[in-house]
Amino acid sequence: MIAIESIRSFFRGRIAEKEPLAPYTSMKVGGPAQLFLEPKDRDDLLALVQFLREQAIPFMMIGRGSNMIVSDEGFLGAVIHLEPGLSRVSLFEGDVVAEAGARLTKLVDFCTQHGLQGLEWAAGIPGSVGGAVVMNAGAHGSEMKDYVVEVEALRGTSVVTVRAQDAGFAYRTSAFTRDIVLSARFRLRSGDREQILRKKSELMARRNATQPLTLPNSGSMFTNPPGMHAARLIEQAGLKGKRIGDAQISEKHANFMVNLGSARAADILRLIDLVRRTVHQNTGILLQLEVKLVGFPEDVMASLS
Ligand SMILES: Cc1cc2nc3c(=O)[nH]c(=O)nc-3n(C[C@H](O)[C@H](O)[C@H](O)COP(=O)(O)OP(=O)(O)OC[C@H]3O[C@@H](n4cnc5c(N)ncnc54)[C@H](O)[C@@H]3O)c2cc1C
Repeated sequence: MIAIESIRSFFRGRIAEKEPLAPYTSMKVGGPAQLFLEPKDRDDLLALVQFLREQAIPFMMIGRGSNMIVSDEGFLGAVIHLEPGLSRVSLFEGDVVAEAGARLTKLVDFCTQHGLQGLEWAAGIPGSVGGAVVMNAGAHGSEMKDYVVEVEALRGTSVVTVRAQDAGFAYRTSAFTRDIVLSARFRLRSGDREQILRKKSELMARRNATQPLTLPNSGSMFTNPPGMHAARLIEQAGLKGKRIGDAQISEKHANFMVNLGSARAADILRLIDLVRRTVHQNTGILLQLEVKLVGFPEDVMASLS
C-alpha cells in the first residue's frame, strides 16, 4: 500500500491513482501506474524522491515514453512525469540549459529561434531532454554527447553536476541510468536561421521517407550490432511485416514495430522474442533491446535484456 495521504501532505504537484500509461507512451500500449506523479517544480521532485526512497516505494521516471514498452499489467509503484513542472529551456552564459521534462522539439525550436546550430538532427526524435540524455540519443551521425557540456542529476541523495567527459556516454547509454536527470547544458554554435530550418526539414523528410511515422511505434527496437544494421538482419530473416495480434514488424523499417490499433504489450514481447530467436538462428547474433521494458516480471526482463 502506498501512503498516498502522506504524499499529499507535502507534494504540490498532480497525483493520480491507477493512471493508464499507454497514452504517455509512443507505442500506446501498457497498463496503469499504481501512482502517477507530476512534481510542480524541482523542490517538489526532490522531496518526493526522498519520501519514496524512505518508504522503499519502487519508482521510475517517464519522459515521453518513446523508448519504452510498458507491460499490460502496468507498473506496481510510482511513475514520475516531469514535463508539466520541469520543462524550461533558457539561455545561460551563452549556453542553452534545458530541464529534463522539456520535449526535444522544444529545445530544438528554442535553438533555432536563437540562431544556434548543432541539434537539428534531434528535431524528429519524440523524446524528452531527460530521456535523450540518459539514452544518449543520436541520429544522422550525431549524439547528445557531442553537444552536452554538463548534466545536473539527482544521484543517490545528492544533486550532482556531471561534466560530459565524466558522463559515461556511449552508444544509446550513459552513466545516468540509475539517476534522475534534472537538466542539461548544451553548447552550440551560432548559425544562420534559414540554414538551420532547411537542415531540420531535410532531416525530417528523410525520417518520413524511411520510418513508419503514421502508426504508434517506439523507434528502433534493437541496437545495431557493431558494424551492422539490426533492420537488415531482421529483414534478411524474412520477418518484415510479420504480425502477432495487432503488433507488427513494420513493412517500412524492419527495426520498428508498430501498433496497428489494439496491440498488447504481450504481442510486442512475442514479436521481440521471435526476432531475437530467428536472427540468432540465422546469424549467431543476439540482438539487444534498445527499448526499455517496464513492469514485466524480472525473469522476462532478464531474458530479453
Ligand atoms: C518515431 C521515433 C523515432 C525515434 N528516433 C530516434 C533516433 O533517431 N535516435 C534515438 O536515439 N532515439 C530515437 N527514438 C527513441 C526515443 O525517442 C529516444 O530514445 C528518446 O531520447 C527517449 O526519450 P523519452 O523521453 O521518450 O524517454 P522514455 O521512453 O520516457 O524513457 C527512456 C528511459 O529513460 C528513463 N528516463 C526518462 N526520463 C528520465 C530522467 N529525467 N531521469 C532519468 N531517467 C529518465 C526512463 O525511465 C527510461 O528508462 C525514436 C523513437 C520514436 C518513437
